[in-house]
Amino acid sequence: MLLNQNLLEKAVAATRKNKPQHFGANLTKRRRNAINKAFRHLVENPFINYENGKLLILSDSRTENGEAKFYETSRNECKLIEPGNFLCHAFWDGFPCWHRAAFEIVENYFEIAGEVSPQGTVEVCPS
Ligand SMILES: [Zn+2]
Repeated sequence: MLLNQNLLEKAVAATRKNKPQHFGANLTKRRRNAINKAFRHLVENPFINYENGKLLILSDSRTENGEAKFYETSRNECKLIEPGNFLCHAFWDGFPCWHRAAFEIVENYFEIAGEVSPQGTVEVCPS
């Protein structure tokens, strides 16, 4: 499906508002940065895959061997699945990461768009 830029911006705004109550200044700042980065990614790198409550994300970093890295992010977990199978460092440390921010944005997007259970590849419409 196509993600509409206007709805995407609304979804980002909704995600920004949804700050966890217990977050102090440091976590709030990290969360804000994560959301900004996720938003940038969703616009610049529009091919994401959301299926059964899991978002597959192409990392902006590469392995030492230059291989692409993929993260699988869900409501409860964020992990590097390709290559290997490791929890995301930020997630492990209890910090917000942009993968999970992207997940939240995409879920908010579907809620705003009235999509109940989207499947498969999602594409952001640039206009
Ligand atoms: Zn992560």
